Amino acid sequence: MLDSFDPDQVSAPKGYFVSGRLTKASGEQIAVLRPSDGLEYACLTSCTLEEVNATVDDAWRAFRQSDWATCAPRQRALILRRWADLLEAEAEPIARLEALGSTRPIRDALAYDVPYTADCIRFFAELADKVGGDVAPTNSNSLGLIVPEPFGVIAAIAPWNFPLILAAWKFAPALAAGNAVVLKPSELTPFSILRLAELAIKAGMPAGIFNIVQGSGLVVGDALCRHPRIAKVTFTGSTKTGSAIMRSIAESGVKPVTLELGGKSPHIVFGDISDLDRTAMSISRGITSNAGQVCVAGSRLIVQSRIADVLVDRIVKSFGSLVPGPTWRSTTSLAPLISTRQVERVDLIVRQSVSAGATLLTGGSRPGAPQNGAFYLPTVLGDVTSEMPAVREEIFGPVLTVQQFDEEDEAVELAGDTNYGLAAAVHTSNIDRAMRMMRRVDAGTIWINRYGRSMDYILPTGGFKGSGFGKDLGRAAYESCLRLKTALIDIA
Ligand code: NAD
Repeated sequence: MLDSFDPDQVSAPKGYFVSGRLTKASGEQIAVLRPSDGLEYACLTSCTLEEVNATVDDAWRAFRQSDWATCAPRQRALILRRWADLLEAEAEPIARLEALGSTRPIRDALAYDVPYTADCIRFFAELADKVGGDVAPTNSNSLGLIVPEPFGVIAAIAPWNFPLILAAWKFAPALAAGNAVVLKPSELTPFSILRLAELAIKAGMPAGIFNIVQGSGLVVGDALCRHPRIAKVTFTGSTKTGSAIMRSIAESGVKPVTLELGGKSPHIVFGDISDLDRTAMSISRGITSNAGQVCVAGSRLIVQSRIADVLVDRIVKSFGSLVPGPTWRSTTSLAPLISTRQVERVDLIVRQSVSAGATLLTGGSRPGAPQNGAFYLPTVLGDVTSEMPAVREEIFGPVLTVQQFDEEDEAVELAGDTNYGLAAAVHTSNIDRAMRMMRRVDAGTIWINRYGRSMDYILPTGGFKGSGFGKDLGRAAYESCLRLKTALIDIA
């Protein structure tokens, strides 16, 4: 296990990645801060519009002229697997770079983010030569073929909360399916992905197939969405940005889009749970992991009244073991928020809800230490109503609200009273109830007696309602990177 590291010894790569190499950009300068102490550790030079357009054009040329789309899929899979191996061989420096500028503690970056990213690439590589088309049941005078083929150049736009993993959810299926990709990471966490791009070339990927453009969403992200040679957009981020992306696409033409957006996911806990401590721990982790900056953060506890007090008490106690600290310290178990601005926003939502009648059961402030950096204590709000901002808005911080119910119908009602539909958990030891709730709760993922994803990449993930549409992971994500062509051949 990697020990703590000195953040001043880690330097960020510079530039954007086009034609298989790091290239100096010439747009505006954006200061990039370390969430752990607020220090500016690097300056990001954005791409100009000309540089974005030239990158897409170059990707389009590489798609048409290299053999990435046309080679035996097994050959593509081989290169992708080699890429994953190289990433694991470089795990420590890449994990350090990831931890330095994001909210991911080094312990998690090394144990989880880097190996998970490598495995995600491997998972999609395996589909490359296994998912094919179909022969249609036409009459015997003709042959009907359903032929999947890559789109061409796919634009992938990623958020900052798991910079490597969430980028991989986008680029891995797209590349495995034979597309070229132009990825735009968040301008808040733009650097670690550049190391991955260099390794792709080392693994044998043709230059121009995997590209990275840098800059703000409003300029660079928007330009990607509007570019006529971008055949599809796949996006992970907030619901507000998802809607802006749909607007940009509609204003500039027509193209498919996958949107993985925000969430306000409930834990529905029935009084019959068999292990209160286990459930409390699951809820605690579901809201404190990455300091609540997880799209599927379990931010609304909906609990049967008869066990509410004792369960909340255990959750609050579990927070006591969390150690806030900089991401470069191996003892850190409570990550910082992405910025002090985000701390202020979280705090404002908590205060507004308390003014509206919520009871602060724990937290509601910054910790005493570390003094610099964007930290916020795990917070629980009781006596909330569905109208309060803490219940309505995706907070993206470690804030849990508590609502109580007596009957199952009430729980379903409370769980569905949100614009989002990303994930939900049901905790019960009654199998009939668990299955019933699985059908009744309106969310793209339902966890029963657990919270959070496993390493089963085969399970697709994606939301309903304001949480978006389309899927990441699973065979569904791979298939969404292919378009279907139909051929009908007369053989009479
Ligand atoms: P964001 O929407 O602010 O930004 C995401 C990306 O979009 C960034 O790269 C940004 O530069 C870019 N962008 C911003 N405006 C754009 C525009 N007009 N056109 C094109 N691109 C634009 O989100 P964020 O703050 O980086 O991430 C947090 C959000 O992401 C939360 O809402 C969270 O729930 C969501 N998220 C969802 C999932 C999921 O799988 N559903 C996973 C992780 C995060």
